[in-house]
This record gives sequence, C-alpha cells and structure tokens, in this order.
Amino acid sequence: MSTTLEGKVVLVTGASSGIGEATALALAAEGARVAVGARRADRLEALVRKAPGELCAVELDVTDQRSVRDAVARTVERFGGLDVLVNNAGVMLSGPIGGADTTEWTRMVETNLLGSMYTVHAALPQLLASRGSVVQVSSTSGRIASAGNGVYAATKFGITAFAEALRQEVTDQGVRVVVVEPGFVATELADHITHPTMQAAAQSIGASMRTLQPEDIANAVVYALTQPDHVAVNEILIRPTDQT
Ligand code: NDP
Repeated sequence: MSTTLEGKVVLVTGASSGIGEATALALAAEGARVAVGARRADRLEALVRKAPGELCAVELDVTDQRSVRDAVARTVERFGGLDVLVNNAGVMLSGPIGGADTTEWTRMVETNLLGSMYTVHAALPQLLASRGSVVQVSSTSGRIASAGNGVYAATKFGITAFAEALRQEVTDQGVRVVVVEPGFVATELADHITHPTMQAAAQSIGASMRTLQPEDIANAVVYALTQPDHVAVNEILIRPTDQT
C-alpha cells in the first residue's frame, strides 16, 4: 500500500530545468504543493504557469545561505509547512585535474555540496516537525569516479556521506533520507562544460545511447516518496540500459 502525496508541501531546488523541473511536475501531478527554486526566475514563472497543480516560484541561490533560508521561509509562509526537500540543484564542469580552472572547482563544491548542505540545514526544523523526507540527487559519479570528473565526483561522493550521516541522525525521528543516483540523463547539465574535449565527449556519449529522460528520475522520486511510513527507500541507482 502506498501513501499519497496529496497536499504534501515540497521544495525542489534546481527546478528551472531538467530533473528538477520534471520532478516538480510529477509531484504536482500527484497532488503535492510544490515550491520550485532556482536562480532563473523567468523559467520558474513559466513552469508555474504551465503546471496544472499548485506551484509557487521561489528564486534562490543555493550557494547563499541567506537565500536558502529565505526560500524555505517563503515556502512555509505560502503553504504552511514543509514535508519534502528535493535537493537537486547542481552543476557539472568536467575537466582534468591538471591545469584546471579552479574557480570551476569552487563553483561545483559551493553548489553541489555546500549548497545541498545549507538547504538541508535550513529545511531540517520543518522536516523534523512534519516527519518529512529529504531527497538528495547524487549521481553514478557518487559511486564511481572517472578521469575528467574528479571534482564533480568528489561533490557527489560527499553528498552520499552527508546523507548517510543525516539518515543516522534523523531516522528515529521519522525523517527519511533518499539518495538518487542517475546515470546519463538528457538535460542542460553538460552544456556548461568549458573544457572542449570533455564537452565533445559528453555530447558523443549522449548521442551514442538511449539516455534517460528527466521524467525517468522524477518517477523514481515519486516511487520513493509514496512508500508507507515504515519503508525508507534510502538509495536508488538508475542508469540508461545502454550505459556501460
Ligand atoms: P540542469 O542543468 O538541467 O539543471 C540544474 C539545475 O540546477 C538548474 O535548475 C539550475 O537552475 C540549478 N542550479 C544551478 N546552480 C544553482 C544555484 N547556485 N542555486 C540554485 N539552483 C542552481 O541539469 P540536471 O537536471 O541534469 O541536473 C540536476 C541534478 O541532477 C544535478 O545535481 C546533477 O548533478 C544531477 N545529475 C544529473 C545527471 C545527468 O546526466 N543530467 C546525472 C546524474 C546526476 P538555475 O541555473 O536557474 O539556477
């Protein structure tokens, strides 16, 4: 027997495109009330207009603790609480370690790792009150590092470590922690890679297989969040069938 998301309040970070947008739409279709967060306010407003359910746009930058706290506060003010945080915002600026532009490392660590930690920190009092859930979007790169993806993988390994510690701290208070680890999903993620060889490699990997679609990950999130209270789906690894 699954539980319903009807009326549940969800904050999705990185909801202006890709996996976050698809997840917000899927959760709204299940009856959730969804605050959609990211920096591109125009994209968020467009999403709110096109979604059939109850959504609200909360402009936020996960690298800025105040912005994150404000986004949680605005969600609670609008919907009266918070049941689920989908911690999805992320950037992938792949490239070899030697000769790297280290400002790209800073951006990845601040967004993927520190940003998701700040968001958990800001949302946790609400999630403890609601006995809610945290969904951490990690990656297959959170399980296996590869050449050219060292810093991105380090942020995703870090997310898994943080999520496991969080799980141990809050599971006896009824808060569930889910780590989702997608393989290659067709989104804008690789568009931001500045290293020409890595950019070309990402394009060619994408063209070589039937990639996952953002909706495939959204379906997994819905699955994890609709299990009965005594069932904690802690980890979901999803690859395209064609991905080795
Ligand atoms: P997209 O580039 O489509 O989405 C990334 C989202 O993160 C955007 O909504 C972007 O919004 C948001 N974002 C980036 N920086 C910030 C910030 N500082 N503050 C708030 N929001 C931010 O890519 P995906 O949908 O693919 O990525 C979503 C997550 O999935 C990421 O964590 C990624 O690492 C992970 N993932 C993706 C895979 C893939 O193959 N696509 C595979 C495995 C994991 P905006 O720019 O408007 O702020």
